[in-house]
Amino acid sequence: PLVIFWFRRDLRIADNTALYHALKSGVQVLPLFIFDSDILDKLHNPADARVTFIYQEIEKLKTQLEEKHHSSLLIKHGKPNDVWANLLKSYNIKSVYCNHDYEPEAIERDEAVKQLLHKNFVSFLSFKDQCIFEKEEILKDDGEPYVVFTPYKRKWLAKLKPFYYKAYPTKKYEQHFYKTKALNLPSLKQIGFEKSTLDFPNQHYQSVLRDYAQKRDYPALDATSHISLHLRFGTLSIRELVSTAVQEKSEVWLGELIWRDFYFSILYHYPHSAKDAFRKEYDHIKWRNNEKEFEAWCAGKTGYPMVDAGMRQLNETGFMHNRVRMVVASFLSKHLLIDWRWGERYFAEKLLDYELSSNVGGWQWAAGSGVDAAPYFRIFNPEEQLKKFDKNLEYVRRWIAEYDDPFKYPKPIVDHKEARERCLRVYKEALASK
Ligand code: FAD
Repeated sequence: PLVIFWFRRDLRIADNTALYHALKSGVQVLPLFIFDSDILDKLHNPADARVTFIYQEIEKLKTQLEEKHHSSLLIKHGKPNDVWANLLKSYNIKSVYCNHDYEPEAIERDEAVKQLLHKNFVSFLSFKDQCIFEKEEILKDDGEPYVVFTPYKRKWLAKLKPFYYKAYPTKKYEQHFYKTKALNLPSLKQIGFEKSTLDFPNQHYQSVLRDYAQKRDYPALDATSHISLHLRFGTLSIRELVSTAVQEKSEVWLGELIWRDFYFSILYHYPHSAKDAFRKEYDHIKWRNNEKEFEAWCAGKTGYPMVDAGMRQLNETGFMHNRVRMVVASFLSKHLLIDWRWGERYFAEKLLDYELSSNVGGWQWAAGSGVDAAPYFRIFNPEEQLKKFDKNLEYVRRWIAEYDDPFKYPKPIVDHKEARERCLRVYKEALASK
């Protein structure tokens, strides 16, 4: 008999909770990765950069398992339930180990796989790995989940002990990897994709921590860590990051990692917020949803330089600076009165670090409909944001080649003052009708 460890969004061997427990069980462990067609079939771009990233990481893991552990990586492509039905026929599986995933569709997938395994007398064991505190670990004194960040953060910090961020030393039990000859790796083409040409950020985040609090809001400085892609796919461990933040006393940066836990928790407790407004009355807003304006926003041609620079950075690199994400999101939902879901979907297609919980959280925050959101009457002024955070127009000129050419760079698509008044009117009407 053997144990299967199922890699999902935790693509690393070191400090991986479920892999550690699988190896520790003493039974031989064969690692598995499934290219999940339920997820892949929804992607429109055959050269989707995230698939290339995952593919490269899978290749690395496979090589590592073969060269260091005389094991390999079992790689399958299909619907998870079908893959598991086949695996049950081919292997004598004792149990399956994996790490928790908190997204509504992932929870459904895991429940279905668990039932199938149980029917075949195979146990399914799942562990906390992608966050520090999950599910019911941080609740208000009355037992309800927090929906405001600051008290959530206070409780999170009060509860944090080294126990919660110590590494899981998989190395200690590495002799328990299942010994096998190298297994097959399908090509990217065989799973229906092409190689992307985008660059991926590296994992060196330590150098930005010292000045993070002073510099993080200035997009031209690019002084944030760029670890979001690695956190999304688990090529870095959250415990390692929190441990570094604590050692370096990087409180502000630690605060950002806590936002990530907070949004996981919100999605877990309020799965409706992935699709609907967290505050239901905001679903009464009469969005204008003008398609031409939406296209201008997507292409970075609104005539508002900070918005346009951000959208072009996103289109070209798959990344956008956090300050600018707030500005473009607020502009789309409040200035253009386009449903935040349109913007959320566009980000989901383009962001390398796309994370359902943080993306929905960020969008609903900007639109005013989310937990702890900016109040609806506080409307970012994109020109003021520019003066404050890119006053030398460095970021703007980096992304908008024609910025200084009045014949080429478009005039503002809406007048700020008019858009602001329209937004206040429409939001007020919606909130009065609740
Ligand atoms: P750093 O500033 O170095 O922060 C370190 C880490 O903390 C990040 O990698 C991230 O994991 C976490 N973090 C930072 N800010 C936030 C935040 N506001 N909410 C939650 N976690 C945070 N982040 C995503 O990872 N995926 C998304 O799809 C995503 N969509 C967003 C959409 C909008 C409209 C907004 C306003 C924000 C969104 N964010 C998202 C949050 C944030 O913009 C990114 O995490 C950050 O820009 C990533 O860059 P970094 O790794 O250099 O961050």
